Amino acid sequence: MTTSADKGIWVLAEHSEGELADVSLELASEGKRLADKLRQELVAVLIGTGIPAGLAGKFRDSGINRLMLVDGPGLEETVELRVQALSEMVREAKPGILLCSTSIFGREMAVRLAAALKTGLAPNCLSLDFTDDGRLQCTLPAHTNKTSAKVVFTTARPQIVTAAPGTFDVKRARGARQPLTVNVTPRADPAAPCARTLRIEKGDPRTMSVEEAPIIVSGGKGVGSRENFALLDRLAEALGGVTAGSRIAVDLGFVPVAKQVGQTGKTVTPRLYIACGISGSNYHTIGMKESKVIIVINNDKSATIFKMADLGLVGDLREIVPAITSELARTLPAPTAAAAEPARAAGARA
Ligand SMILES: Cc1cc2nc3c(=O)[nH]c(=O)nc-3n(C[C@H](O)[C@H](O)[C@H](O)COP(=O)(O)OP(=O)(O)OC[C@H]3O[C@@H](n4cnc5c(N)ncnc54)[C@H](O)[C@@H]3O)c2cc1C
Repeated sequence: MTTSADKGIWVLAEHSEGELADVSLELASEGKRLADKLRQELVAVLIGTGIPAGLAGKFRDSGINRLMLVDGPGLEETVELRVQALSEMVREAKPGILLCSTSIFGREMAVRLAAALKTGLAPNCLSLDFTDDGRLQCTLPAHTNKTSAKVVFTTARPQIVTAAPGTFDVKRARGARQPLTVNVTPRADPAAPCARTLRIEKGDPRTMSVEEAPIIVSGGKGVGSRENFALLDRLAEALGGVTAGSRIAVDLGFVPVAKQVGQTGKTVTPRLYIACGISGSNYHTIGMKESKVIIVINNDKSATIFKMADLGLVGDLREIVPAITSELARTLPAPTAAAAEPARAAGARA
């Protein structure tokens, strides 16, 4: 049960290369919803070394009441120092809930904080709410996404949860103001870290894992051949995304098995999923139904997958896909690795 001893909801925000990761504002929006229900304070924490002052302004419409900037030597490159500093702050302030993302950065912080604070962790939440008696109730995927489980924290505090980028929408908080910024001097001992990040190498959007990709162009049996699949590669490249496929596309050798989406493949939650030549079997859709926007390209207007499409294009993908790619080439600047995936960029710190 949420008790009067729980003091607010904290959001672990993420930044990389001077930019705030989008997931920070997604978590802030969800945090705001929860904080309103509890009538508690909503706090965001930004941690690192030389955090750009301009990032504070990004929280203006988020509903965050207080932004804690934890800036100090070693925090950028050493996860142990970040965990030391943050766990001290949590012990002192006693927030009831801590929201983190499932990026590499967020995940690593969440599990280490849970261990340091001897509390529980609900990973990869699909949704959050409260039970009638005011306990945080986390819905998690279970049994390889065939079902979901509801997890309730009993006494462990803070209740640490992670959620994938794209799980929550960014909503402008009504009446929100610029949060109060508090500079925190970290209590961490830079003398004793075991591991340090030496350098960050940007990933190539084309080889990013499908679970992290914000944009996925996915192909099925209808793509017809490996040669045709190159059309999807080119569209993915133009969008700064990755390709993926149905199980049949994997069986036919169009895409590697690591990129199979579905019950026996990966579960993905991109901002945009473009399904090309995929019929919409439950075995496939279970792995991509949480995508924010779904575009379907299929020459059979009765294909089941159109039922879940935000935008459906009936026609031959061999004509439609290259037409979209050349239109993008005409109108869009070439994507960069950093622009392609803010969450990944943040994750690349670890
Ligand atoms: C236990 C089990 C686990 C499974 N796990 C998975 C899984 O993890 N992932 C998965 O995807 N499947 C899985 N499957 C397989 C699943 O049941 C389907 O067979 C598979 O998803 C179908 O793949 P598809 O949509 O690519 O092919 P199809 O069902 O054959 O659909 C092809 C589509 O392409 C369209 N098309 C054809 N030509 C064109 C064209 N030129 N332009 C546009 N559209 C065109 C057709 O109209 C059709 O809708 C599993 C099955 C079982 C039994």
